[in-house]
Amino acid sequence: MYEEHIYAQKLRELGQQRRIHEIGLTDYADGQPLPHELFDFLKDSGVFQNLAPDEKKQGVHDIGRWLVALREVGALDNTSVHIMTTQSMPIYALQLAGETERLRQQLWNMISLEKAACFCMTEPSGGSDAANLSASASRVKGGYCINGEKCMIMNAGFADYFLILARLSDVEGYDGFTLFLADRQTEGLEVLPHTPTCGVTGVPINPVIFHNMFLPKDRAVGGEGNGWKLVMSVLNHTRPGVGAAALGAARTAMERAAAFGQHRICFGKPLNKNAVLQGKFAGMSMAWDAAWLLVERAGRNLDAHGPAQTSISAMAKIAGTEAAKQIVDQALDFFGGYGYLTETGMERFYRDIRTTPIYDGSNDILRGLVAGIQLKNYAGHI
Ligand SMILES: Cc1cc2nc3c(=O)[nH]c(=O)nc-3n(C[C@H](O)[C@H](O)[C@H](O)COP(=O)(O)OP(=O)(O)OC[C@H]3O[C@@H](n4cnc5c(N)ncnc54)[C@H](O)[C@@H]3O)c2cc1C
Repeated sequence: MYEEHIYAQKLRELGQQRRIHEIGLTDYADGQPLPHELFDFLKDSGVFQNLAPDEKKQGVHDIGRWLVALREVGALDNTSVHIMTTQSMPIYALQLAGETERLRQQLWNMISLEKAACFCMTEPSGGSDAANLSASASRVKGGYCINGEKCMIMNAGFADYFLILARLSDVEGYDGFTLFLADRQTEGLEVLPHTPTCGVTGVPINPVIFHNMFLPKDRAVGGEGNGWKLVMSVLNHTRPGVGAAALGAARTAMERAAAFGQHRICFGKPLNKNAVLQGKFAGMSMAWDAAWLLVERAGRNLDAHGPAQTSISAMAKIAGTEAAKQIVDQALDFFGGYGYLTETGMERFYRDIRTTPIYDGSNDILRGLVAGIQLKNYAGHI
């Protein structure tokens, strides 16, 4: 516990020294690189080392510590933390697929952040019903020919590697799903212009198209037909991270609200002395702590290769993102009208946090997953 505290403190101090909280506010301009300071910070802080393979344990190294890193970077800067969450998906995929030797170079390029990566699953016809995707991979001499269209792909604007979920054209059902790793330069891979968004405006999200893109056989990550199982496992690993990052941002929003409430005088006394606002802040504090405990539990469960990962990780994501959304909303209220003006920066938290219940599996979809598992569990005890 104490070690975690020191780690968090060091990350926070490094980010503050490097002024990440200011640099990360730069809005992304189509085709432009992101500020290099953000990558330098992520490299120098060593956050991705938490996800480096642990040869002895045969697993991803330290997910609990990675969640602390996401919380701390999320508290500093919403752009850096989205580089992290997106990059983690292909890193997890290669390790969960047992590709630490065959695709070793690519894995270490991602862990060292020498190369950036993105994850291409969502299609214009729908993200939630991912099993209905239409990106196809036809077997051809020496490899595969891939066609399809993906959308809302974060980091695609600058990524070097593209992890793609497609279906083998001649295999029905889940057995056809296969994950592929493509290089940006691959002929037939096209990244369309950035799609403007409500929040998370420091990071590009783009449509990506594959036109008769040839990939050699060794770019099928984990082999043919394992794509669905792998993606579900990757998502079990990334979902608590979305909760952790959102809670980091929510903590900063609370710090700002509390600081504002010390000095803003209403009815002759500081806001923080008002019983109604005190009650509200107590609720925010409890919601934050309860959600973090679920995120922490999910990290411990993943590190221990524990049971019920789907349900435990989904609950962590739902709890973390929904607590964060409500906390940011209430923190903005502390500022009254000033919270709504861009000058206090609170409206940016509000826009940024809004996407967290939507991606990585919408919370509606995750509630369905949790309910399916827990109803069986509970009914089984009667
Ligand atoms: C900022 C941002 C970044 C993203 N980054 C990526 C990325 O890097 N890679 C990637 O592949 N995708 C990415 N996405 C896409 C994201 O994963 C999808 O938006 C998400 O999965 C929802 O899919 P959809 O938008 O097609 O909504 P739909 O699937 O059309 O769903 C619409 C609404 O209906 C609800 N719904 C649908 N079906 C059900 C059901 N059975 N039960 C209950 N409710 C249901 C959903 O919860 C949602 O509220 C990103 C999205 C955003 C906004």
